[in-house]
Amino acid sequence: MYDIAVVGIGPAGANFLRLVDTERYSVAAIDKKAMDGSGGYRKPCGGLLAPDAQRALAKLNLSLPGDVIASPQIFYVKTIDLDSEITKNYQRFYINIDRQKFDVWMMSMIPQSVDVFERAMVRSIREEDGVYRIEVCRGGEVQVIEAKHVIGADGANGIVSRCFFGKTERNLRLSVQEWYEMSNREPVFSCVFDSENCDSYSWFLSKNRSFVFGGAYEIDGASQSFANLKEKLEGHGICLDSPVRREACLVYRLRTPSDFCVGGGSVLMIGEAAGFVSPSSYEGISGALDSSCLLSEVFNDSDEDVLRRYRRTTRGMRRKYTVKIVKSRILNNNLLRKLIMKSGVQSLEIAKQRETGGSSEGLADLTLYNK
Ligand SMILES: Cc1cc2nc3c(=O)[nH]c(=O)nc-3n(C[C@H](O)[C@H](O)[C@H](O)COP(=O)(O)OP(=O)(O)OC[C@H]3O[C@@H](n4cnc5c(N)ncnc54)[C@H](O)[C@@H]3O)c2cc1C
Repeated sequence: MYDIAVVGIGPAGANFLRLVDTERYSVAAIDKKAMDGSGGYRKPCGGLLAPDAQRALAKLNLSLPGDVIASPQIFYVKTIDLDSEITKNYQRFYINIDRQKFDVWMMSMIPQSVDVFERAMVRSIREEDGVYRIEVCRGGEVQVIEAKHVIGADGANGIVSRCFFGKTERNLRLSVQEWYEMSNREPVFSCVFDSENCDSYSWFLSKNRSFVFGGAYEIDGASQSFANLKEKLEGHGICLDSPVRREACLVYRLRTPSDFCVGGGSVLMIGEAAGFVSPSSYEGISGALDSSCLLSEVFNDSDEDVLRRYRRTTRGMRRKYTVKIVKSRILNNNLLRKLIMKSGVQSLEIAKQRETGGSSEGLADLTLYNK
């Protein structure tokens, strides 16, 4: 029997495994994907490292390898409000990364002392007399892994929360992303508000030789909302035909402070599985790194009373995300957003593109993204 079994090896799981004292604890880790990134699975993600994530990496004394960094690096976001038909540009400090390579890099730092079960799907978890029995399906064979503690690092609506903490459907959105060939599009990083189809925002992004368009939608009718938005944008001159890839996954949407779930009994939740993802921007890498670091510190201190101490140590994080809930309500209120954008506060004037003759104001320059 293991002391700790980690379900999910995304940024949260990998960082916890890197930091927890594996001389003191026997540790197993399980993920349905392959550790070298092969096998086709990739996490749908915008792949932007926000300042909070950069700060988390700095605190962990981690420097990004060059091959994780994508091209181009864009220093402002073009914010397009289809409700009020206002477009503004705002300075941003994101790093554009290749998310798949980022995950492989994080996984490469897991110590050899951890027993990693890769390409292994967790199907159920039960608790009996203080022992957690994790049923895993790997290459068609079913095996049971036993552990004293389970760490839920399996993202939005993962098996750990489904087994122990009930339904969370009202907090879920279906995120859809399509990838296009870059063709001769201008480099772009843009977000689009359209309250008819999306209760947050959708994004465009250049990534290496591709162009990504994605968003997070109410689960019922997500495909239709995505299609509606594409059609609307096409009406504004943005050509979104012939995607080379389409991907979708659930993403957690925090609505109230009571939506966090840091665990129960000897089950501890980290990363997006705990709710640490921004409801205003869906930025979740910083929450994954910060929460996994805090939980490893709690374990490295002692395995007594882990839940209570983890709950206490994540109080600051929960406060920070509560502020983000308020921010998301403001940004997603049509009137308030219109007033903020109209005021021009913190917006940037961007030099006109000679080729297109576009201006940085109004919808006219959306044609910038034409093929
Ligand atoms: C479309 C989209 C765009 C996003 N863009 C950004 C962005 O630009 N910047 C940013 O910071 N954040 C972004 N996010 C959020 C970010 O991707 C997540 O918050 C972050 O990945 C959370 O990390 P995690 O380790 O908690 O979970 P995940 O990265 O989701 O990792 C969970 C792991 O658990 C494994 N797993 C799940 N279930 C099982 C099972 N039953 N058996 C075995 N293994 C299992 C999965 O294979 C996966 O490896 C985006 C999210 C989406 C959906």
